Parts: sequence; structure tokens; C-alpha cells
Amino acid sequence: MKYLSTRGQAPHVTAVEALRAGVAPDGGLYLPDALPHFDLDDFPAEADLAPLASQLLAPFFAGTAIEPALAAICESAFDFPLPLVTPDKAQPGLQLLELFHGPTGAFKDFGARFLFRCFDTIARPEDPITVLAATSGDTGGAVGCAAEGARHARAVILFPKGRISAFQERQLCCWKAPVSALRVAGDFDACQALVKAAFADHELSARHGLTSANSISIGRLLPQMAYWAKASLDVYRAGETRPGLIIPTGNLGNAFAAVLARACGLPIGPIVLATNANATLSDWHASGHYAPRDSIATLANAMDVGAPSNFERLSGFGEHLIADVQRVDDAAIRHRIKVSFDETGYIACPHTATALEAHARLDKATREERPWLIAATAHPYKFAENVEPLIGQSLTPPPALAAIWDRPVEVTDIAAQADQLAAELDAPGR
Ligand SMILES: *Cc1c(COP(=O)(O)O)cnc(C)c1O
Repeated sequence: MKYLSTRGQAPHVTAVEALRAGVAPDGGLYLPDALPHFDLDDFPAEADLAPLASQLLAPFFAGTAIEPALAAICESAFDFPLPLVTPDKAQPGLQLLELFHGPTGAFKDFGARFLFRCFDTIARPEDPITVLAATSGDTGGAVGCAAEGARHARAVILFPKGRISAFQERQLCCWKAPVSALRVAGDFDACQALVKAAFADHELSARHGLTSANSISIGRLLPQMAYWAKASLDVYRAGETRPGLIIPTGNLGNAFAAVLARACGLPIGPIVLATNANATLSDWHASGHYAPRDSIATLANAMDVGAPSNFERLSGFGEHLIADVQRVDDAAIRHRIKVSFDETGYIACPHTATALEAHARLDKATREERPWLIAATAHPYKFAENVEPLIGQSLTPPPALAAIWDRPVEVTDIAAQADQLAAELDAPGR
């Protein structure tokens, strides 16, 4: 299988080339040039997530150095539980697919762990890979964690000093080699500018094999198909009806993976998107006109996106495949967290709450005609300062997140200057 740029001005590449490049040279995003089609009988009953992922993803990596390692990559990347829970006995058709039981408590663990293991498989001493990530939140933690213990590829994470929470900082600085955390005297834009400058320095970039791990990488999108495959097969086989999905979204990564999985033949019904107050997607769905804009800050901050990067993929592929977009502002997020807890005892993070709210807004007939699967994208503990006052009790961290507080941290302070980042990249032992 080859990969094509959404802008059509770049050469076809292999999966490995697409992973190394991240973005296509014409500025577009890579998409497979053809999709495999699966019949439901192709998948054994009750297959576990890892073997199912490996079967589903095999055609996407056929003929590359990743193919022979794929089963092992999936086994080690997806080694945590994927529960499907029914929070409300009175509504058996509403199920939450909890994607947050990985080591950093958010669904980013699926993509980051898979992508980094691919990088570690293809990197060589003479052909290194360094993932350079500027982060203000979840992605950096998931990438750092995924990189710990890698043998060939490494990760360098930049974050703005004094602008992230104590827990977030821990989650960036607690990973062992080959992970380095750099605390930049500047804001998030300064971190991004440093990363951009490093990529633009072709010698530096080639010397270290610089690449990114953000959500536009096809290597993060593809593995996210796996949990949609697993959940939709399990639900379909139990009741012979294709479940609808409700997906909290910012950059459309998780949602686009669901669109791809459905296009590959998985039993997925309508796909509904839930956003926070950022209105780009709800306005687009209502008017048919796409107008990106600046993002606004909300309680569901991992979805604070005004120009969803994967829209470019969706628009060439299956815009019409999105059944609905519900915009959920902060007041509605708070209300839904509280009501959900009061009525069922379920504690949702602000992102998950947007999808629960979207479900509550479905008309009764639509809600009852099929099972609905809601992506629960983060553990509520990660947003404890917002969630606790709404439910009137304190949250206990799950073991994986509690363990992060107990790990030693290591961080290097740098000024927001390109030569300081270059020196860190060149430093022996990094
Ligand atoms: C990143 C993130 C999202 C949004 O995911 P996209 O794939 O960008 O749409 C939603 N919830 C949480 C907790 C996240 O970290």
C-alpha cells in the first residue's frame, strides 16, 4: 500500500516514509491510496485487541520493515484494558468505551505507543529517529511514556516553564532514557517556534532524523482504528445492530480513525461528533461552509482547536459520513458532569462530558434505534480541579497516574533560543 498527500502534489510514499516524514512535502497529509475491505467473518469471535489490531493494520504496512514486527508492536503497545461500561442500567443502549486505561490516562496512549514502537523498529544508528515534540498537555506525556526504554529512536519534549499544571509537568519529566524533557523559558508558541526552527535546519534535522508525533501523523491515526474495530464488532455481535459512535473531538483524529474503520467494513453506524465551545465544526456541519478560526479556551482543553488539522483528510474522504456535530459549551459540560454523577454515579472528564451531552440531545427515536458507543477519552483525575467541585467529592488517581507522582523527575532548563535546542540535541548521551 502507498500513501498519497491530500494536496496531490507530492510523490507516493511507503508507510515507513510517511511515518518518518509526518507531513507530506507539499504540506498535505498522508492518506492510504486504497483501503482494504474486511468482512465481519474475517475477524475471529472475541479476538483480543492486540491480535485484532494486527490483523486490521497488516494491509497498511504490507511490504515494509514494520510488517514482520506488527504483531509484536500491537502486543506491546496495546497492553492495557479497554473496558466498555454501561453507566446507567435504565439506558442499556448507552455504553462508554473507556480509552483512558493506558499509562498516561488519556486515549493518546494508543496512538503514541503504536507510533513510537514503529519508529523504534525502523530507526538505525546510521539512520536515527528523534521525535521532537512541543507540548502543553497530553500528547507530550503519552509520547515520553511511549519512548521510555526504546532502543533506537528517542524523544525530546519541550514545554513552557510555569505554564502547565504540576501534574502535567511531572508527566513530561518522569520518563527514563531515551526521553529528554526541556523546560523552555517562554510560552507554548516559543516552544513551537523552537521546534519549527530545528526542523528548518536541514543539517540538524538530518543528523538526528527529526520527526514529529502530532495528530496529523498517519502513524497515530491508523492504530486508533483498532479500538473502534474491537468495540463495534463486540457490540454488533451481541445485538446484530451497528452501533452509532459519539466522539469528543478537537483535531478530528479519533473521529477520522472511526471513519476509516467504517470504510474498511467494520460494523459502525452513524458517527456523531461532540465539540466544546469552539464552533468551527458545528458551523461547518450546519452551513456546509468550513471557516477555521482562532481557538478559544474551554474546560475540555485538549479539544481547544479552531482549525482541526484532520479536516483536510475528512473533506477529501467522507464529509457526508458525519451524521451530526453537537457543540457543547462550558456550562453544558459542567451540567452534564454533575447530572451524570448524580443520576448514575459515573464520573466523566470534561471531554467525555461533551459526548454524554450530545447523546442526551439525540431525539428519543434516534437514541433508541441502536446502541450508542461514547468515547471516554481521559481519566477524570486528570481534570480533578474542575471535576471535584461539580461532584462534591475528591477523586483518587488510578494506579498508573498515582505512580507518576512517585517517579523521579529529570528536566533541563533552556532559553527560547534555537542554538540551545541544537546543543541539547547534539549533547552526547541524549
Ligand atoms: C486529544 C484529546 C481529544 C481530541 O482528540 P482528537 O483526536 O484531536 O479529536 C479529546 N479528549 C482528550 C482527553 C484528548 O486528549
